[in-house]
Amino acid sequence: MALVIDPSPAPASAQTVSQVISPPKPSLAGASRDDLRLALLQIGVPEKQVRMRVSQLWSWIYVRGAASFDAMTDVSKELRARLKAHYSLARPDIVTEQVSTDGTRKWLLRLERQPNDAKAPEIETVYIPEADRGTLCISSQVGCTLNCTFCHTGTQRLVRNLTAQEIVGQILLARDRIGDWALPKAGNVAGAATPQDKCLLPDSERKITNIVLMGMGEPLYNFAHVKEAIDVAADGEGLSVSKRRITLSTSGIVPEIGRWGTEAGTMLAISLHATNDVLRDELVPINRKYPIAALLKACRDYPGLSNAKRITFEYVMLKGVNDSLPEARALVRLLAGIPAKINLIPFNPWPGAPYECSDWEQIERFAEVVNKAGYASPVRTPRGRDIQAACGQLRSASVKLRASERSVPPTGAAAEGGGG
Ligand code: SAH
Ligand code: SF4
Repeated sequence: MALVIDPSPAPASAQTVSQVISPPKPSLAGASRDDLRLALLQIGVPEKQVRMRVSQLWSWIYVRGAASFDAMTDVSKELRARLKAHYSLARPDIVTEQVSTDGTRKWLLRLERQPNDAKAPEIETVYIPEADRGTLCISSQVGCTLNCTFCHTGTQRLVRNLTAQEIVGQILLARDRIGDWALPKAGNVAGAATPQDKCLLPDSERKITNIVLMGMGEPLYNFAHVKEAIDVAADGEGLSVSKRRITLSTSGIVPEIGRWGTEAGTMLAISLHATNDVLRDELVPINRKYPIAALLKACRDYPGLSNAKRITFEYVMLKGVNDSLPEARALVRLLAGIPAKINLIPFNPWPGAPYECSDWEQIERFAEVVNKAGYASPVRTPRGRDIQAACGQLRSASVKLRASERSVPPTGAAAEGGGG
């Protein structure tokens, strides 16, 4: 946000220079093609040029990661000046960046304050490098309306849904920070080659190869924005992350699962965590509304489900709660006939958590039952534990508002989630 010295002369009595804070210019980073079209029309770009200009901007923003309009050498100087006068390419502000001993990186990001926000909300994004892939874990909401008892985010009230731009902004920021753009950042390079040069980073050299919606929030309660963001992320002329490498994780919002499959078609992960309704009602309270049988039916009906496109079932290992061998066998029986992967997640503790992680030997015994049933390498190694970046440890420092103060009341299905 720029501090601008008011050029008008100060009254004789005033000894100080008055400062005027100008409102930030709207950012086009994270915008959809429709947003860009509108933005261009609003600054007077003639209708017949708009398509071409959108595709230029698209390429600069999503292939090169341009962070300034100056670098856009194939856009006329005059239009660049107009873009610069009205818009920015700002990303979310980084409050902190932590790097774990295992290379995992976690960013605490501050979003721009919207009219109803009590203060600028904060969210977390995590990058997990592995030998054969790099996974970016992004947030879909500030907090969560659901309150799964083992999840740190669940102890934070929903502050609001993220906009599509804020969701995409996390990807742009991560690519900036780990140097994952097609060329040296266009915004910093005078006379950088144009996007037409097609100097794209080959897939094999990309650092972020996979995206998981496993950060803060329940993505299916922010369906429209998450869908719009995924369309930007998967666009083959831009960020180009294949939908087969994007996974949406849900606690089980049954009516939205099939719709997500049809409209977005990404990979799906289900936070199952229990094999019977009594226990799941307690651990994942949305189960009272959408019990296991209904959830598994939605999974069986998931569009495109096949051995090549399996559903991942996540199962957090809680000592003495859900980690017995009869439960391992029940899990296998429950999933019979569904093309599935099983991810056993060691519980990641957080201050005040009412659970402990299962003993390692017990996790191994549980995994053996699951392995014998034909599911390979099911235990997910915890990453970034030292920086509280592991699953379920995310919880930003945003102000917790009372329900009556919430900036955006959860709408539609979100309201039904209750709790928070
Ligand atoms: N709301 C969505 C996505 C975010 S949670 C969902 O619930 O699926 C992402 C994953 O982290 C879920 O599988 C969730 O159950 C798991 N998780 C939450 N808290 C955890 C914890 N403390 N330890 C391990 N996994 C946890
Ligand atoms: Fe929300 Fe997912 Fe955490 Fe449950 S596990 S409280 S749905 S973020």
